[in-house]
Amino acid sequence: MASLLTDELKRAAPSLANLDKLQTRWMNGIQFYLSRDVPVVNGHAIYLDSPWALTSISQRQFWTNVDFSAFGHGAVEGILSADISEWEAPGVVYGKPARECTAPQIQEEVWTQLKQHLNIGGAATLDDANLLSWFLDPDIEFPNPGTAANAEPLLINVAGSLQYRPEAQVELQNLFLASDYVRTYTDIACMEAANEAARRAVNCVLAASGSTASPAQLWPLEEPAFLKPLQEVDRIRFGLGLPHHLEST
Ligand SMILES: Cc1cc2nc3c(=O)[nH]c(=O)nc-3n(C[C@H](O)[C@H](O)[C@H](O)COP(=O)(O)OP(=O)(O)OC[C@H]3O[C@@H](n4cnc5c(N)ncnc54)[C@H](O)[C@@H]3O)c2cc1C
Repeated sequence: MASLLTDELKRAAPSLANLDKLQTRWMNGIQFYLSRDVPVVNGHAIYLDSPWALTSISQRQFWTNVDFSAFGHGAVEGILSADISEWEAPGVVYGKPARECTAPQIQEEVWTQLKQHLNIGGAATLDDANLLSWFLDPDIEFPNPGTAANAEPLLINVAGSLQYRPEAQVELQNLFLASDYVRTYTDIACMEAANEAARRAVNCVLAASGSTASPAQLWPLEEPAFLKPLQEVDRIRFGLGLPHHLEST
């Protein structure tokens, strides 16, 4: 969006003028197609100390009504999706950061790092023979191997960035924004933020069109209460100039 804005548009809608001040980082996914399903856990897994900051989710358990054999060559029984959130740190196979690797190297690195975390205590949770094929997010573009570009980097909300985020309603009467960078209650780029922005945009459209339909609801982001004490500890430590308690142990 930032690259689509012309100077004329920025003058007409000044709240869009600072979109290029919002920060982005790389975060993209790779999918592994498995001949035998590997559920891992019932939700997301975070591989905290993996060099490429991997997370994963095993898809099949959440698509119980889907017949996997009806897709592709019919042999896929499970899909393990992994996100790479660190593209600058060296990997364990090639010693290169992800953005300097080719697609097959990225595949091998991620698969290896996942195995390092899942195949422990003699368990062979991930088995090379079980890997049928894989698919890397095509937004990672390889004009020349080794200089990958990312067509869809992820928005990162940093301290002070709220001021650069536009409202769903900008200064133009016929333009409404529904995206995770819109100013919302939700201060992290996620589906909830995009959803809330969309509800705000819908309400703008309803108002602009004179509709009598009831507006979409808005509500502050609900955070799990059990995190509150930990956040308070963090806040106090920060105020005292101390590092995060996990860093100091
Ligand atoms: C790897 C990864 C993992 C994530 N995991 C999670 C998660 O687990 N939970 C969570 O809540 N959030 C997650 N997110 C964040 C979440 O996906 C985004 O915040 C959310 O999808 C943003 O929604 P959006 O509608 O603003 O933008 P998008 O979903 O990016 O939609 C924008 C659309 O516009 C299209 N587009 C772009 N340019 C043009 C153009 N010029 N003309 C026409 N169309 C165009 C794009 O193709 C795209 O389809 C993840 C993001 C990434 C990248």
